[in-house]
Amino acid sequence: MSDTIAAIATGGAISAIGIIRMSGDDAITAADRVFRASGGVKLAEARDRQMYYGELVGLSGELIDLCLCMITRGPDSYTGENTAEFHCHGSPVVLSEVLQTLFSLGVRQALPGEFTKRAFLNGRMDLTQAEAVIDLIESETSMAALNAAGQLRGAVGIKMESVYNTLVDVMAHFHAVIDYPDEDIDEFKMEGYVTSLEGTQAELARLLLTHERGKILRHGIPTAIIGRPNTGKSSLLNALLGYDRAIVTDLPGTTRDTIEEKVIVGGVALRLIDTAGLRATEDAVEKIGVQRTLAAIQSAALVLIVLDGSEPMRNEDYDALRLIPPDVPRLVLINKSDLPTALNDGELTKFGCEYIQISALTGEGLDALDAGIKKMFPILGTPPSGEILTNARQAEAIAKAKESVDLAINAIADFVTPDAIVTDIEAALISIGEVTGKTMREDVVSRIFERFCVGK
Ligand code: GDP
Repeated sequence: MSDTIAAIATGGAISAIGIIRMSGDDAITAADRVFRASGGVKLAEARDRQMYYGELVGLSGELIDLCLCMITRGPDSYTGENTAEFHCHGSPVVLSEVLQTLFSLGVRQALPGEFTKRAFLNGRMDLTQAEAVIDLIESETSMAALNAAGQLRGAVGIKMESVYNTLVDVMAHFHAVIDYPDEDIDEFKMEGYVTSLEGTQAELARLLLTHERGKILRHGIPTAIIGRPNTGKSSLLNALLGYDRAIVTDLPGTTRDTIEEKVIVGGVALRLIDTAGLRATEDAVEKIGVQRTLAAIQSAALVLIVLDGSEPMRNEDYDALRLIPPDVPRLVLINKSDLPTALNDGELTKFGCEYIQISALTGEGLDALDAGIKKMFPILGTPPSGEILTNARQAEAIAKAKESVDLAINAIADFVTPDAIVTDIEAALISIGEVTGKTMREDVVSRIFERFCVGK
């Protein structure tokens, strides 16, 4: 028995179409109370996944909208329960009217992620697929979307299932030895188990290695924009964002705080940190800003150094270049290319810096910046199909599983008793179960779905 939930699935903005979704035992009955199909068909007799055109009416029979309705009977629906959808005109007023009518029939407002949570609890998808749903919705780049789509199809879940089955197999043999202590495992078989465990270990390690790329895919590349005051850092940030986020003025040192924004440059998400300009200063507030710039450089995976091409290089420009640790990728941007050039780029070549000429004012050269970033991060170049681990929770559980498998392999090498080996394998199984949701505490599951949007 499940209570029936409803929500607007298409958000609260005015749009062409707005969808109301319902799931639960009474979803189809409730839909029948408010929908009159134009052919006279009752939804209780309607075909699954077929659109019916008709009138949506309030409880006193007043017309709310002309819409399409589709039902799917459980267990073959998204949630595994009876579901109904109304595809209405996308007016927030109309949609809210429909919802209120459904609520007066005993249907209740769905919580964030409750449809997908029900899908998971009813075995329609594992936890990696459920998490991929929200990743797909929230993906900010096409690469992130491709990867999430692959995970929605089960890319991580299928790998975990295979690891899980191998471990269960090996564990069963060790259990047999514990239950029948007189039957030793012969050398030949033992080698087979070690090989199986090593295969598992390698698979888990391979997946974990993808998580670094996954973090970039999910969160973007932490990028510091540095340079002395007035070279055009804030203007660049605004040009990339397409709107005035940072204050741009002619006074040196206007950007006193750091600002963080995400932009897509060359198909790569950059988490841009615009920093206070770098210069020797006695101003206390600005001093804090300069310290923050240094901190931003230290935590950056990419540094964009902005120079003013309309002026010769100054000591502060050289200081900016020297600040960057040698292993951090950097790109010099010579800004203000719309003005006559006064900067001698030969100086930059001496520093071994690649540079791109841009104008934050006119947008000239921003396409070259796109190409430059794309070239610097080729790891993001191959379209993924779910093989990249982007989820920190999953990565943590997989790391724990691998540790337990490591322990099991070492225990076998050290001729430890079978019960200790079984304990390690069991621990690995629990961790793998946390990835797929097989062995997951209810409160943790609830927390995962809380970050979903209402209606999903
Ligand atoms: P920041 O201190 O480095 O953040 O520099 P701002 O972005 O505040 O820019 C300082 C000044 O340079 C402002 O007057 C901007 O309008 C101007 N500026 C920035 N980019 C360009 C550009 O590409 N061309 C020209 N001509 N002026 C620019």
